[in-house]
Amino acid sequence: MPEPTESLDFIRSKVKADLEAGAYPGVVTRFPPEPNGYLHVGHAKAICADFGIAADYGGRCNLRFDDTNPATEEREFVESIQADIRWLGFEWGGEPLHASEYFKQIYDYAEALISKGLAYVDSSTEDEVRELRGTVTEPGRRSSYAERTVEENLALFRRMAAGEFAEGEHVLRARIDMANANMKMRDPLIYRIKHAKHHHTGDDWHVYPLYDFAHCLSDYIEGVTHSMCTLEFDVNRAIYDWFLEQLTEGPRPHQYEFARLELTYIITSKRRLKALVDEGRVSGWDDPRMPTLAGMRRLGYPPEAIRALMARVGISKSNSLVEYGWLEDAVREQLNTTAPRALAVLRPLKLVITNWEGGDTTVDVPTWPQHADRDECRAVPFGRELWIDQEDFEEVPPLGWKRLAPGREVRLRSAFLVTCDSVIMKDGEVVEVRCTADLDSRGGRAPDGRKVRGTIHWVPVNGAVDAEVRLYDRLFADEVPGEGKESVFDSLNPKSLEVLTAKVEPTLATAAGGERFQFERLGYFTVDSSDPFVFNRTVTLRDSWAKAKPTARKARGVQGPTVSRAPLPAAAQGLVNRHGIADDHARVLTGDKPYLDLFLGAVEAGGAARTLARLIVDELRKAGEGVVAVDALVALGERLDSASIPGTAARPVLVELLASGDGVDTIVARLGLEAADSSALEAAVDAVIEANPDEVARFRGGEKRLTGFFIGQVMRAMGGKADGKAVQAVLRAKLG
Ligand code: ATP
Ligand code: MG
Repeated sequence: MPEPTESLDFIRSKVKADLEAGAYPGVVTRFPPEPNGYLHVGHAKAICADFGIAADYGGRCNLRFDDTNPATEEREFVESIQADIRWLGFEWGGEPLHASEYFKQIYDYAEALISKGLAYVDSSTEDEVRELRGTVTEPGRRSSYAERTVEENLALFRRMAAGEFAEGEHVLRARIDMANANMKMRDPLIYRIKHAKHHHTGDDWHVYPLYDFAHCLSDYIEGVTHSMCTLEFDVNRAIYDWFLEQLTEGPRPHQYEFARLELTYIITSKRRLKALVDEGRVSGWDDPRMPTLAGMRRLGYPPEAIRALMARVGISKSNSLVEYGWLEDAVREQLNTTAPRALAVLRPLKLVITNWEGGDTTVDVPTWPQHADRDECRAVPFGRELWIDQEDFEEVPPLGWKRLAPGREVRLRSAFLVTCDSVIMKDGEVVEVRCTADLDSRGGRAPDGRKVRGTIHWVPVNGAVDAEVRLYDRLFADEVPGEGKESVFDSLNPKSLEVLTAKVEPTLATAAGGERFQFERLGYFTVDSSDPFVFNRTVTLRDSWAKAKPTARKARGVQGPTVSRAPLPAAAQGLVNRHGIADDHARVLTGDKPYLDLFLGAVEAGGAARTLARLIVDELRKAGEGVVAVDALVALGERLDSASIPGTAARPVLVELLASGDGVDTIVARLGLEAADSSALEAAVDAVIEANPDEVARFRGGEKRLTGFFIGQVMRAMGGKADGKAVQAVLRAKLG
């Protein structure tokens, strides 16, 4: 068994231990894409984990299309997913599989569950189901339909499957625990009626299993041993295990969760990627600017670079936002050794060597100049007329200019030294540069050893290949697209594509689609099509984005090449979206179930979400162990928001709430925390102003830093019993 040399990630360690302990005869993993979009770079992480781990331990990885939802599957996606996995360098064991192949077996498991008295047909409406489910803070109640006998349930379920009922009329639910703290365990729905035509099973089925029931059983049916998914599924693990324990014999598969891959400057939500395509913001799922594997392939990214990024990122349980530049660096590193050099002129300007009489010739240009041990050259045609890049000529050169200008000498890469004598103008534009060559400088070496600092690239006019060159840049201009904007589309980079009509060296006339080159001094390019020629810029030679926004990066605490700020996990993002609370608050809340339950309960009870989140995360956590009652938290939030107690009162009140059963008002009264009324506050401010005339004068003279001094003075005068915001307001009014 080939043993990976680096230290093992937590899943590999587990696989290794399981195999050593003989828990399974071999390792079997699966990659379960839903065929409702193209694979993106985030999926590449899951692919490298699922296929990579199986390969490392001599096992098998199944490709299983998760097509349990009859509505979404599309042939295009099934095909692109297979092509992209193979392109990335992986192969699945056997034929591609489909969860729909197991519909009959999964159905039989459902009947078995009913027979054991562990599932029942519920005929409640959707609203009733929701109502009875309870909340995170209140246990749910079981529907009265749960009293149906096994026989009744079996008969009804069979009639559901036979298509005798309308959608929504009945559902099948597992009988687990309506009071479980994990909402997923409160008698989850496992089958629903759907009269849809399925891509594979046609009209065979009128009931379809839900993810939590279908996934674990599909894994079991395939003999999967280690079933990997992303972190947001950690709440599904209990139900995954429960179904398998009720219905199957060991050895059973187990679920392991790892952090999603998130990169700066891209999005990986399939829904949003689809919107980019549907709204025509890009040319398709494989637009070279898309973070899809198909897009990256067209852009020219080698699969090795994507795998190298995944190896560098590793598999762990902590979310992190990875600098997009890491991927580009991996691409450059890979292409540096695999992409031959070529000459191309992106914005052509004609250069004529007036003393050239040698007719058409060729010069030898090194193809791997960066590799000391590879001295291959190619013969590039050369003659009297050449193309150079407009950017390499300046009529009035700025200070320090090393390229071509009237009277200046430069080296034409690997060819000759030329000096500009004159230019030809048309409509105020330079249309031709006329030069004299040092005919003894073949190869670009001055015969007398004189120093020529500048070297520019060129393409012969005779034999040049016309090519469209697409200069692609990042699709989004913001590090976290959509952050602080109304829509992610507001983050689109308006300059993500520039199309040029270029000239490339004649030797490229035979280049084939997918071939990659380094155009000297310009970047890496790949052949998108060869008839007519289209080259896509894969990546520039240097990272032009690295120092793009130093202030924004600093504000995020980003230093060096990695973005240390973790992205919001999906659950936290959901809280932010629904309740408008701060990212950091959402992060803490979703990481801590009792706090999350308290928060959701308090919001449901009518509390202000932002206040509640702040109270729990910034105050309650520091006030002691445990949580307080929902009502108490809501009451405290209201008193703070109405400034009837000062902000500083939150902590002591929470400490008391944790310790005693008293209500908020009782505690506030006992601790004497009532905010002073406004007249007392105004009097205190007046007194502070009168006692500090110098500071007042300096403040009015513009020294605004003294604000803190005044607030401190007033607070002290009030014995801490004033609300910070109220103090500020009064100070502002009186000090101007
Ligand atoms: P959705 O289910 O919303 O359509 P998805 O991104 O989960 O989107 P799937 O096709 O279900 O898409 O994903 C297949 C596998 O890829 C899953 O196991 C999923 O956990 C994994 N995956 C998806 N996105 C990422 C990511 N950003 N990083 C790592 N793994 C991912
Ligand atoms: Mg999914």
